[in-house]
Amino acid sequence: MTTTTHDLETLVALRRALHRQPELSGEEHATAERIRDALAGQADAIVTGLGGTGLAAVFDSGRPGPSVMFRAELDALPILETSAVPWRSQVAGRGHLCGHDGHMAILVGLAGVLARNPPRHGRVVLLFQPAEETGAGARAVLADPRFAALACDWAFALHNLPGVAQGTAWMAPGPANCASLGLVMALHGKTSHASVPEAGVSPAPALAELIPALSALGTGGAMDADYRLATVTHARLGERALGIAPGWAELLVTLRATSDAQLEQMLGAARSCAAATADRHGLALDMDIEDHFAACSNHPEASRILGDALGACAIAHHPGELPLRASEDFGLFATVSSAAMVFLGAGQGQPMLHNPDYDFPDALIAPGIAVFDRIVTQLTR
Ligand SMILES: [Zn+2]
Ligand SMILES: [Zn+2]
Repeated sequence: MTTTTHDLETLVALRRALHRQPELSGEEHATAERIRDALAGQADAIVTGLGGTGLAAVFDSGRPGPSVMFRAELDALPILETSAVPWRSQVAGRGHLCGHDGHMAILVGLAGVLARNPPRHGRVVLLFQPAEETGAGARAVLADPRFAALACDWAFALHNLPGVAQGTAWMAPGPANCASLGLVMALHGKTSHASVPEAGVSPAPALAELIPALSALGTGGAMDADYRLATVTHARLGERALGIAPGWAELLVTLRATSDAQLEQMLGAARSCAAATADRHGLALDMDIEDHFAACSNHPEASRILGDALGACAIAHHPGELPLRASEDFGLFATVSSAAMVFLGAGQGQPMLHNPDYDFPDALIAPGIAVFDRIVTQLTR
């Protein structure tokens, strides 16, 4: 069962409508509503408000058998879109610049195919997850008490990947995305008159020490089991003033590693480094963790199923440069399902994900639906 030209035109129109009205992580109310409208009358059940704004469409054969989840993301980014396409963002400073609009269109298209050709045994769940970009959404969905009834034996997801030729994909068993987290540090000293700095406690020397020391905890290099990267992403020191010696500073660093265990070690080292430095300079220190993503690793059997589906759709796949440095909270679904994720080539010479001029290529909608539909056939028809 394939997607018709009419279906595709409708899906492209939906994708562009979503693109015009991007919503940030956790605030995807209108997006979820639009998806619910697009799914109306197709699924056996629709669950809304999952983990906040998430929703799930359930296609249940009523017979025992495997259960399969496919996941798309609802959220856009706090980035000003600069492309000139007629469907560019109409919300200042916000854009669908990761292609989640396209991933949603693919799952809505899959819903249409499932309505016409439902599972014969087991069930299929289409999950539209909130807040992927902050790493909070998958965690919130998993923590929602209603998710237990939706959890599936298998879970699959795709992400478009610019820089890789269309019609090809990166996919392999094992690590697919790095684990990462943001460490937010606040240093508290004491302000003083700029002419009498010795009367206060300035965090400037500590900040100057911490930037290189934390950066040295992960210098990147070859993507292997020991890969670690620490990126200082933001620093602030006191007010923008010339008469005041600063009394506070803020420093944000993103830590990244191929495994959760490695990331935990890096975090321990970063915490001790910050605590010792603050101590040495007589500063109080607050530390918080934000945007914590677990490592995403492809289950061997789920990878085989996904690989067969890609092959059946004539999409050549290979490990490419996996694992990606970027994080993806789909990895958390591996705690309840045998999970695998594929990166579909979005084309060479395309703007990269999160670039201000990025736009999801509509040509990926049909192959995306076809790959997932093939998995449905393998497992439930
Ligand atoms: Zn993104
Ligand atoms: Zn994304």
